[in-house]
Amino acid sequence: MEILSNYISNKWVTSKETNTTDVINPATQEVLGKVPYGIGTATDVDTAVKAAHEAYKQWSQVPVMRRVQPLYKLKQLLEENAEDIARTITLECGKSLAESRGEIQRAIENVEVACGTPMLIQSEFSENIAGGVDEFMIRQPLGVCACIAPFNFPGMIPFWFLPYAIACGNSFVLKPSEKVPLTMMKVFKLIEQIGLPEGVISLVHGGKETVDAFLDHPLVKAISFVGSSKIAQYVYGRGAANGKRVQAQGGAKNPVVVLPDADIDMSVQIITDSVYGCAGQRCLAASNIITVGDSGHIKEALYEAAKKRTTGYGLDEANEMGPVISAESKSRVEYLIGKAEAEGAKVLLDGRKASITGFEKGNFVLPTILEGLPLGGEVIKTEIFGPVMSLIQLDTVDDALNFINGNNYGNMACLFTNSGANARKFRSLANAGNIGINIGVAAPMAQFPFSGWNESFFGDLHGQGRHAIEFFTQTKVVIERWPKEWARKF
Ligand code: NAD
Repeated sequence: MEILSNYISNKWVTSKETNTTDVINPATQEVLGKVPYGIGTATDVDTAVKAAHEAYKQWSQVPVMRRVQPLYKLKQLLEENAEDIARTITLECGKSLAESRGEIQRAIENVEVACGTPMLIQSEFSENIAGGVDEFMIRQPLGVCACIAPFNFPGMIPFWFLPYAIACGNSFVLKPSEKVPLTMMKVFKLIEQIGLPEGVISLVHGGKETVDAFLDHPLVKAISFVGSSKIAQYVYGRGAANGKRVQAQGGAKNPVVVLPDADIDMSVQIITDSVYGCAGQRCLAASNIITVGDSGHIKEALYEAAKKRTTGYGLDEANEMGPVISAESKSRVEYLIGKAEAEGAKVLLDGRKASITGFEKGNFVLPTILEGLPLGGEVIKTEIFGPVMSLIQLDTVDDALNFINGNNYGNMACLFTNSGANARKFRSLANAGNIGINIGVAAPMAQFPFSGWNESFFGDLHGQGRHAIEFFTQTKVVIERWPKEWARKF
């Protein structure tokens, strides 16, 4: 089977690393490709970064209006090829086709917002700060920017960064997750056609050694990372210690609170979609469902909705939920369900030992519901990253807020209610960067920052929107005096 190539200086090139790891269809265990994986990829990083550094010298001087033109072409090509890319996402990542299509749509929206960079990059000017003296700020690009992506949104997450980085005048090198590199292979076949100069956007495959090579390379000026919190913190620490600008988005354990006055049918539908969508492998997946007050009917409705969810091969449109990414991930999810039991939880709905006809080898876990996890236990604060809902009963909104604010993560917190006063209190006091009110996946649109807090984010400026423009530029302040007789009079 062919080993995936890197894309460097607008050419497809073979990696210097001969060791590989397999890309595996999580529903069938079929090997879909082989990715370079090992210390030799550090040489690939060096080649790509040096080419990107050379490209940057020219690209940064191209007027911004011209820099966004290739993005318009990319938008069109992504739209024309959306179905093909969505199928590739499902093939290597497992999620349903509907979810993969939604993911590509979110990628395209980021390209659209980045097309507004000529406006977004404009800055400030103060005339006459002193007689005949003006002061202004300009935003200039940084240089070579690298992106390290996770497995769960192979088509969308690189686009939180890529279009903004290049529109701002930087060059960009992407390392996709070694588990799902085929989606970006497809996307780079499109990037090849948009007329960018050599080296402006590159693709390098690999794993940990590849990431370390980016973190240590003196020509890399900025790192955008998305992945688990432990690695995010490591990337942030090592990148920052090497003098780089770093934004590192991490994991999550997202609480959702349901008040007795919530619209039950709507809430149950939205919450089950949030918990079980993408088989729970979303950083904005609802995980701890906190019912406040009288909640028997809500639990029953959640149970019924979870039981009805259809699980199977993502390419079959009838299925709402696919497998988790790997056999290792399935074992981990099942282990955590067992650990919850050992901690004293009841397994109301048990998704272990799933067997899907025709896909017996797939990494399937069926919808699971846990109840009665001890508040001080381990599982209640551990990111499961699988289709598992934990039901928690508390007495008041304040108890729910206390619980939420004891969370180490801070990616998302949601409330279901018909009370404006409770909604207002919740959005103000919940310690999370993305808040949903009667929303189950509070994913910011491309024009807003993806605002994780606490251990869900290490850094300052987030991905998407204006934050991306600020992250990918550095400010320069200029003070100018042009003495003239008439100006000296004042
Ligand atoms: P991961 O941390 O295992 O991998 C992410 C990237 O880091 C990959 O490209 C991988 O090659 C690289 N990597 C892995 N181990 C490394 C190491 N020891 N040193 C350096 N680099 C390493 O994450 P994943 O399993 O691919 O993705 C799932 C995680 O990502 C979940 O925790 C999820 O919550 C999180 N996530 C967060 C967001 C967000 O916006 N906050 C979005 C999507 C996913």
